[in-house]
Amino acid sequence: MAMAGVRQGASLWCPQPCQRNQLRSSLRQGTQGVCPRVSHFATVNCAANADLSKEYVIVGGGNAAGYAVRAFTEHGVEGSKICIVAKEKVPPYERPALTKAYLFPLDKSPARLPGFHTCVGIGKPRQTDEWYKEKGIEVLYDVAVTGLDVSAKTLSTSSGSSIQYNNLIIATGATAARLPKAIGGALQGVQYIRDVADADALVEALQKCKKLVVIGGGYIGMEVAAAATAWSIDTTMVFPEPHIMPRLFTPSIAEKYEELFRNKGVKFNKGVTVKEIVSKDGEKVSAVELSDGTVLDADTVVVGIGAKPAVGPFLESGLRMAEGGIEVDGLFRTSTPNIWAIGDVATFPLKIYNRTTRVEHVDHARKSAQHCVDSLLQVQQDPYDYLPYFYSRIFEHPGSERKVWWQFYGDNVGDVVEVGDFSPKYAAFWIQSGTLKGVFLESGSPEEFGAVAKLARQQPKLDAKKLQGASSVEHAISISLEATS
Ligand SMILES: Cc1cc2nc3c(=O)[nH]c(=O)nc-3n(C[C@H](O)[C@H](O)[C@H](O)COP(=O)(O)OP(=O)(O)OC[C@H]3O[C@@H](n4cnc5c(N)ncnc54)[C@H](O)[C@@H]3O)c2cc1C
Repeated sequence: MAMAGVRQGASLWCPQPCQRNQLRSSLRQGTQGVCPRVSHFATVNCAANADLSKEYVIVGGGNAAGYAVRAFTEHGVEGSKICIVAKEKVPPYERPALTKAYLFPLDKSPARLPGFHTCVGIGKPRQTDEWYKEKGIEVLYDVAVTGLDVSAKTLSTSSGSSIQYNNLIIATGATAARLPKAIGGALQGVQYIRDVADADALVEALQKCKKLVVIGGGYIGMEVAAAATAWSIDTTMVFPEPHIMPRLFTPSIAEKYEELFRNKGVKFNKGVTVKEIVSKDGEKVSAVELSDGTVLDADTVVVGIGAKPAVGPFLESGLRMAEGGIEVDGLFRTSTPNIWAIGDVATFPLKIYNRTTRVEHVDHARKSAQHCVDSLLQVQQDPYDYLPYFYSRIFEHPGSERKVWWQFYGDNVGDVVEVGDFSPKYAAFWIQSGTLKGVFLESGSPEEFGAVAKLARQQPKLDAKKLQGASSVEHAISISLEATS
């Protein structure tokens, strides 16, 4: 089915027949464990002066890149055919850890690399540097792609070298949105968090921090503020909306979490924006001035105000863009043959709701990588059919008496029925025109989380009044499950 906003003309979306044959033949070679060094490049449009030529080049060494490589190796494609070009200095890792166990106080066993390289997030082997070396996969660390020439099939890089690809997967993710320099967004002590280098800088700051201001009430802000309580740091959260996690939480869900934060000493300044991040010495942050005139003293400020897709190197390439990201079809093919895009940077057809979107969550990064590689290698050709899923975990450090782990599946549209006492369980069901659209669950068991995923996928007809009468979260889930049969 063609999705609104994504044009699926066969001439643009489909690789040329000869390219398909090359893919098949390279897959056969890989499956047999025979990986001739780029001999097939004689058949493609080579850039005469490329410093490196690869069958499969993945740009971006993040979550999606790690899972894409795993998918290639599971199909027997490895060795010198594959190359990752990574801006970071370490192999791909599970990025969500950076604002969770990475921020535990130093005496509470914080997570550190190599503990959370991909693909431990789904219980698969850790892909350390040694793993890539054993597989013969080249990872170019600390190298940023700076441009793409689609007709020559080459990438230019920050190191000055160029890389030629036969198939290119773009997995550059997103970058943390920043506050303008003019209002103090680049002062010393103002932290943004996207990669492990940022997390290291934040850990260093937390060790000395006395007063922390967290700007942004989304999941990054909540996770950083929760971590700061484990360090016993005086913490204030600031955001323009009326409550935390405004894009998902209802006011009553938010109130429950805010109460938890308050019990741990976190203060809130809601409904305000930042006028200026102030510095007494012109270098280091000393306070945050808010739009209502309040001035909050601070030696560290963490800004968690969203992210922007990392499309910079591709803007002039001719790749079609949509909603700020790189437009792909249900097989993750861009508008240019032999180029795919996955993870946070890809704008894809969300089949279940018949709309196009970008998703900045790790589950999608993993699944889009798998789906893309399966499609690229022609293992399958079904369009991606993703069920939106998001989670957050806070207060999980050793010794914490109340650990928080919520998951959300589906679409938060329609009216909401909330069930539970939050000690610790709580659930919310979004119902639109009598159809269940989305489910939020706090502190569920693995079976219950599985059940709510099934509910959001199946979207049963549901009587809101019956659900309102549920005596417990378990009861509400069982009422909803009955509606699926
Ligand atoms: C701190 C934090 C916590 C998170 N917590 C959660 C969570 O709890 N739950 C959840 O569902 N999601 C969470 N996310 C979101 C999740 O991590 C992302 O959706 C996921 O990492 C996206 O994977 P990706 O590969 O598309 O991008 P990324 O993992 O960001 O990887 C992109 C990589 O590309 C590199 N790159 C960028 N440009 C270039 C270039 N020009 N050349 C070479 N390399 C380049 C980047 O350096 C980066 O390493 C979190 C994200 C962050 C930052």
